[in-house]
Amino acid sequence: MTNRTMKIIIAAAEVTPIAKVGGLGDVIGALPKALAKLNLDARVIAPFYGAINRNKYPSKLIKQNLKVGSSSVNLWQTELPDSAVPVYLIEHAFFNGREIYSSPSADEPSDINKYNFFSRAILESLKAINFKPDVIHLNDWHTAAAANLLKTDYRNDEFFKQTKTLYTIHNLANQGPAGKNNYMADGILNSDLINTVSPTYAKEILTREYGAGLEKILSRRKKQLYGVLNGIDTNFFNPAADKLIDQNYSIENPEIKTANKQSLQKKLSLRADKNTALVGLITRFVKQKGVDLITEKFSELNCQFVFLGTGEKRYEVSLLALEKTYPDKFKILIKFDEKLAHEIYAASDIFLVPSRFEPCGLTQMIAMRYGTVPVARSTGGLVDTIAPLQKGGRGVRLISKILGNKPTGFLFEKINPAELYNTLKKSLNLYYNKPKVWRRLRINGMRQDFSWKKSAKEYLKLYKKLSPK
Ligand code: ADP
Repeated sequence: MTNRTMKIIIAAAEVTPIAKVGGLGDVIGALPKALAKLNLDARVIAPFYGAINRNKYPSKLIKQNLKVGSSSVNLWQTELPDSAVPVYLIEHAFFNGREIYSSPSADEPSDINKYNFFSRAILESLKAINFKPDVIHLNDWHTAAAANLLKTDYRNDEFFKQTKTLYTIHNLANQGPAGKNNYMADGILNSDLINTVSPTYAKEILTREYGAGLEKILSRRKKQLYGVLNGIDTNFFNPAADKLIDQNYSIENPEIKTANKQSLQKKLSLRADKNTALVGLITRFVKQKGVDLITEKFSELNCQFVFLGTGEKRYEVSLLALEKTYPDKFKILIKFDEKLAHEIYAASDIFLVPSRFEPCGLTQMIAMRYGTVPVARSTGGLVDTIAPLQKGGRGVRLISKILGNKPTGFLFEKINPAELYNTLKKSLNLYYNKPKVWRRLRINGMRQDFSWKKSAKEYLKLYKKLSPK
């Protein structure tokens, strides 16, 4: 049969909104829905954590006392909200705790046994429900052991004869608890294909600078290593319908952003001036994100800064010091606040993403969707999602020529404050002096397709490579 439905099982430690800690969960929550729209039979399998809200996500028991190694599990089934995508949840004492991971950094030794067991339980569950997947799509170190098992204990298992594996690296730095195995390395070595979450990052991780110690192992699998960009939830992040922002707008009327700017200025007690550029940044305040590149010198720029984030104390302290000295320039908001985030995306003219490394990055995509022009470091997914203006040269004539290539933002190369400062200054000059060019830049960004549909099509290509028939 040529048009048979491809069967995919996506195995992960998180699935948003049922069990979310971070970005991994968001991908697992969104990708299968987009795959279903491409007519794939995509299903998810995850642990049934004690932290899962059983009222909000009612599930039914489908297998009781299913044998897994010397222990047994109960298998439950629910669906991803607003979809028919089945989600299998494996119940076992390992997962009963209140938290998803045993420590916030997810590298607690006790998690080894937990996710080793989960990996075996994935394979046993597939057999128990008789779902013979074309591809087992594994994600991050938690499920890497399943690739190993398929090559060892399950090597001669008829059930998996036709099954291939794809291993997605969401966070290369998080390689699993230290022990005799490096689980991330195992996943890379034992899976049929590997991908990370952007094409540029897929190349960068082959180098010592970005490889997190695994560059050699990754280089051995270079031919099987791909980059697939993440999408964003274009319904949740939609300036035309967003209920969290003051005034909705679209490509037809991006100037309404000004009204959002004024209401945010008012809300945050910044000088309400529609003509002053507002520069936003929303991130975790950690080294990776380069927030330390913003220094006192930035107070000389003609703009207002609004930063939202949480993270390491040292970064919070130095940013708050800037706010204290220059209260009319800097507004630093130390919290996680979804509404405020949407308001900042909608209100800002420019958005900063000064990351040292960035596997994919979502904030630049969200910013562009809201007509906010990114000024970002030239690394990882930022390179793949932002078409830089400045590369073509200087001057208006050149700019209008480049506009034909649809630039959407600014990129800077080197990790230092001066590079960021100069690039931001360049963008401010354009904002103040060339409003028509600026408007085009803005609209170019708003026109980009960052939907999951696009990403799902790329994953489908990888699945087809694995299972061509
Ligand atoms: P990360 O490395 O943290 O996964 P991404 O750019 O991939 O970075 O994703 C960050 C996501 O979290 C974005 O949707 C961003 O809007 C959101 N976010 C980060 N910090 C905050 C915050 N303090 N308040 C609200 N949303 C936040």
